[in-house]
Amino acid sequence: MGAILMTDRQAGRLASLARRHAPREACALLVGRPGKEAATVERVEEVRNADAAPEARFSVEAGELIAHYRGAEAEGLEVVGIFHSHPTSGAVPSRTDEAHMAANPVAWVIYSVRDGEMRAWAPDGRGGAAEVRVGRA
Ligand SMILES: [Zn+2]
Repeated sequence: MGAILMTDRQAGRLASLARRHAPREACALLVGRPGKEAATVERVEEVRNADAAPEARFSVEAGELIAHYRGAEAEGLEVVGIFHSHPTSGAVPSRTDEAHMAANPVAWVIYSVRDGEMRAWAPDGRGGAAEVRVGRA
């Protein structure tokens, strides 16, 4: 996947979600249609950051995650991206993010509240991350 496409409205919603939750990390699932060249986001689904250290990490409870995956599947959609925010650092994956990306090979969209910038990443197959273009749907 080389790109993830979303509307201005969806991108704006993710940015405001990130600002609202700062200094904690916000997270959301991006449900939509996968594609060979680009995945298209149909819906942004907010999920709760259940991590014990939400200022530095995020995690989502398994039951909540499964409910969203099932809901998407029932509509013929997929979770095409995982969104989270970095309140005080740049929009690049942390080492922890990279470790989790390998197990969840979708687009990882990160919004930096500090920089007001959104970037997306996918696992590069070598334990790191390669940048994915964020385009407009
Ligand atoms: Zn992160």
